[in-house]
Amino acid sequence: MKYEKLVDRFIGYAKINTRSNEASKTVPSDPKEVAFLKKLSEELTQIGLSDVRTMPDGYVFAKLPASKGKETVTPIGFISHVDTADFNSENIQPQIHENYDGQSAIKLSDSVSLDPAVFPNLHNYKGHTLITTDGTTLLGADDKAGVAEIITAMSYLLDHPEMLHGEIEIAFGPDEEIGIGADHFDTKNFGAKFAYTVDGAIKGELQWATFSASAATIKAKGTQVHPSSGYGKLINPIVAIIDAFNLLPNERPENTRGDEGYYYLLDLNGDGDSAEAHLIIRDFKRDGLKQRKQILADAVKQVNAQYSHPVLDLNQYDQYYNMADVLKDHLESVKLAEAAYKELGITPNEAPVRGGTDGSKITFLGMPTPNIFTGAENLHGPYEFASVQDMELAVDVVLKIIALQSK
Ligand SMILES: [Zn+2]
Repeated sequence: MKYEKLVDRFIGYAKINTRSNEASKTVPSDPKEVAFLKKLSEELTQIGLSDVRTMPDGYVFAKLPASKGKETVTPIGFISHVDTADFNSENIQPQIHENYDGQSAIKLSDSVSLDPAVFPNLHNYKGHTLITTDGTTLLGADDKAGVAEIITAMSYLLDHPEMLHGEIEIAFGPDEEIGIGADHFDTKNFGAKFAYTVDGAIKGELQWATFSASAATIKAKGTQVHPSSGYGKLINPIVAIIDAFNLLPNERPENTRGDEGYYYLLDLNGDGDSAEAHLIIRDFKRDGLKQRKQILADAVKQVNAQYSHPVLDLNQYDQYYNMADVLKDHLESVKLAEAAYKELGITPNEAPVRGGTDGSKITFLGMPTPNIFTGAENLHGPYEFASVQDMELAVDVVLKIIALQSK
């Protein structure tokens, strides 16, 4: 195998439960993440990286100093997140399937199979070694694969001093899956001119356009009276929220794709006294997002106008913006990754992500940060899997980017 410790590293990390916690008020959101980040920081020191430091937001930063004679090369960085998605992460037992035939269903447990009839992309992995779950948990390749790949690349450079390179910065952080990990990413302390997240994504994906995103909370206060005498008096707060939602255009995740945005009702809870709902809004264009927010505000206003007093209270806030708005004027990082993919015979797939990345936020904090692939699929659930060959290719990409930048 090309990178001896890559698979062991990945499996070792994957087995450690680092699920983040949306309900938490602490940073990082869960002590399991803090413990894992501490373990990583020890490993970074142990393989020989410098300036290993833990930032107030939980991020662990480290540096690979420039080779002699390459001190003037502009520093670049690589970033992954350590938390895993909101799905069972207890007792993760990665399973290795060597030389997959690209045709058969892979049995994960008695009741769960990874079947090409359901996941036709499996046909792309003929001859690959696949790492899967045992059907009861997620795998956490999102983003332990990225963590293992970055550390393996750094370790490779430390073992091969003949490969000259400029200064490299690396970062591992918490809470990407709950959307807040990179909120306060300290780009100044990090010290790279631009960086790459190595996160999720299938071989070839090179992502530098994302949604622009906002979230909304609607609170409703009802007037509870016995339904027998409810005429003209009873106000049902749950129905008021549903009425507002039904005034929105019928653009939902289940009936939009490509470059179309949407409104997504995440939850609605309540009783006769009060109710609360959470929505998210997505659009690739910033003014599109603005318009959608206005449409939601108008819908709430229209419902409120049906009552003698406002029943609905709307609070909207922006979550992240399409990083292409910035990157289109700073394409250096994208061009460098494209060149690396091409030298390795990988066709770049630059389709916009129908989501966000840590890089969306970090880019707006002043450091352009597109995303490169890790070689994993079906993220966030029991069907998640990683290809060892594609993970090796991801390490190749990291090393090639560094080599081209250091020429
Ligand atoms: Zn991820």
